[in-house]
Amino acid sequence: MARNPRYDILFDPVRIGPVTARNRFYAVPHASGMTNAMPRMRAAFREGKAEGGWGVVCTGYVSIDPGSDDAPLPYATLWDDDDVRSHALMTEAVHRHGALAGIELWHGGGCVMNRLSRTPSVSPSGTAWMPTHVSYIGNQRPRVMQHEDIRDVLEAQKHAARRARSAGFDILYVYAGMGYLPYEFLLPEWNHRTDAYGGCLANRVRFVRELLEVTHEAAGGQCAVALRISLEELRARPSEHAASEAHEVVQRLADLPDLWDVKMDSETSDCAPSRFAPEGSHEPVIAFVKSLTHKPVVGVGRFTSPDAMVGQIRRGVLDLIGAARPSIADPFLPRKIDEGREEDIRECIGCNICISSWHDGVPVRCTQNPTIGEEWRRQWHPERVPPAPHGGTTVLVVGGGPAGLECALTLGRRGYEVTLAEAADELGGRLRFETRLPGLAAWSRVLDWRRSQLQRLANVSVYRGNRLGADDICELQPAHVVLATGSRWMPLLYSPLEVPAGTLDSPDVYTPDDVAAGVALEDPVVVFDFDNYYMGSAVAEHLARSGRIVRYVTPSGYVSAWAVMTNEQPQTYRALSAAGVELHTLSRVESFSSSELTLVNTFTSARTRLACRSLVIVGARLPNDALYHMLTAKHEERTAAGIVSVTRVGDALAPGAIAHAVYGGHRYARELETGDSGRIVRRDVPLRSMSAPETARHA
Ligand code: ADP
Ligand code: SF4
Repeated sequence: MARNPRYDILFDPVRIGPVTARNRFYAVPHASGMTNAMPRMRAAFREGKAEGGWGVVCTGYVSIDPGSDDAPLPYATLWDDDDVRSHALMTEAVHRHGALAGIELWHGGGCVMNRLSRTPSVSPSGTAWMPTHVSYIGNQRPRVMQHEDIRDVLEAQKHAARRARSAGFDILYVYAGMGYLPYEFLLPEWNHRTDAYGGCLANRVRFVRELLEVTHEAAGGQCAVALRISLEELRARPSEHAASEAHEVVQRLADLPDLWDVKMDSETSDCAPSRFAPEGSHEPVIAFVKSLTHKPVVGVGRFTSPDAMVGQIRRGVLDLIGAARPSIADPFLPRKIDEGREEDIRECIGCNICISSWHDGVPVRCTQNPTIGEEWRRQWHPERVPPAPHGGTTVLVVGGGPAGLECALTLGRRGYEVTLAEAADELGGRLRFETRLPGLAAWSRVLDWRRSQLQRLANVSVYRGNRLGADDICELQPAHVVLATGSRWMPLLYSPLEVPAGTLDSPDVYTPDDVAAGVALEDPVVVFDFDNYYMGSAVAEHLARSGRIVRYVTPSGYVSAWAVMTNEQPQTYRALSAAGVELHTLSRVESFSSSELTLVNTFTSARTRLACRSLVIVGARLPNDALYHMLTAKHEERTAAGIVSVTRVGDALAPGAIAHAVYGGHRYARELETGDSGRIVRRDVPLRSMSAPETARHA
């Protein structure tokens, strides 16, 4: 199909200093969880984006010097020639598809703990970054930088930029964002210096200016130099010389970088989940930048709609459409727009599971795109699947939730004859309820995309309102049966040993499944959450917004404790507070009688009482696997029906996040009759060229 001329502007080439991007699609630097220990996986992951049409593809953060290590978080390094070779795998891969390669050169300053090198980290005035925040907590403060230290970092940046150039990068970054060293110089809270690098903004900006100068020097007119900068805090600060300190910084540096890459300051505002921030949420902070520089500006906003992208350019907000998450959810997004296939775009849902993988220190995962991070290791291409052998046998998929939908779609794309049976009148499984919770409407993209793709496959038949039993399945005589029958919430309590155990003898105890079914609850309602992800807080907010008096209780120290991994904890607190939900952390429900709960403190065992008429327990889920056990018990009937295999996928196998269900469904479908059975096909290793004596010394 031809491209819609309305989107032509997105395919204009853009000059960035001495290099030219073939279009305006810019895959910005973002953590991939793939360090230099996984160079082939990393290269293939970024190659996918270049193949998918992004004009520029960047690395994640790359340390310029061993004085900045973020261990145990997965950061990359560019410290020596081995690192050059490691990154060259990526630049070669990206160039093969006509894209430019950018590298985010990084020094963490007081944000890192240097746990690996065991040398104190450095910062302008010895101030740590968010020292009480769980990701940055540590017990050694940074040391104050002397003039020699400033010179050393400038040298390190210059050498790293030279190495980046020899690794084949086209765009070299100075990174002054998110609490890292150059950012710390910009803000007076971290910069109390009285020398030429502190005090007035002209002085505070000096270090960033010098970093840009040494990077230009190393680039030698061959590579572009980009400045990535966080502007949220600066924008909130008045300036004597401009509309804000952010304006003043941009004015002072105006055309020194070849590209401005502008963003927010903290993870929670920069990569805000869709639950709390809409597409394009950065615009009010960064929209002014273009008016103060002649150089191109790139920014992000979880853009997946080409119309929104065109709007950003036509309204003069951005020159290049930056994307991290949308490029993960669909590495082929630009190509699909180019080919007039907008409806094929697998839109990011803004759940931030990808970010949780970085916090976990592992290669990136995605709810929408199960192939991400698996391009090299399992040889999973985001757009191509291996054809089914023997023309494709018949497969029955039972359950139309995320796992069943993804499984049926991938099997259908491979050429199998697929029947998808869903008990409910609508597809979607857990999404039917969860997308009705406050802020989670965008998650319906998981269902919408798969449903629309399935409609185009003549070899997939979808039956709604069909609850299948074991006999029905045998009657249908499929070669393979996939049970994607989901899970159910259990009204179990939480024992002092921190395991789900024990029940309450009261009719007023419910689970999210009851709330989904529309049960009438009586005030006050208590939501007891030991699931720890979004469900407890989302149900509490939902009930409070529907007029209930709600109290939230959790044995954890934090509301939605795991949601720290997805950057949504601060906003969760704000949302619950705005909805009037009363919070009780470090508390476990022990008993429930006479309209009253007894709570036990997690650490002290002290008991308190809390008024409650309806208790909603958001704790453990159990797989819906009765059908599986019935079918496997019917050995003779199955054999007579010609059923070769019966397999559980998704929550029916192991209850988890939607990302787990999609991945499980995909893996089954991808691997059916290929001989792969879930094992990791290839194992990546670092590129090292240690000399023999060195090897011996370290052995
Ligand atoms: P997952 O996240 O693993 O996809 P879900 O709970 O979202 O699991 O979806 C499971 C789906 O399976 C639900 O829509 C449910 O109605 C459906 N289902 C469960 N048992 C049967 C059955 N016996 N026949 C058909 N559909 C079923
Ligand atoms: Fe988007 Fe979620 Fe995928 Fe991240 S994990 S790219 S937020 S869909």
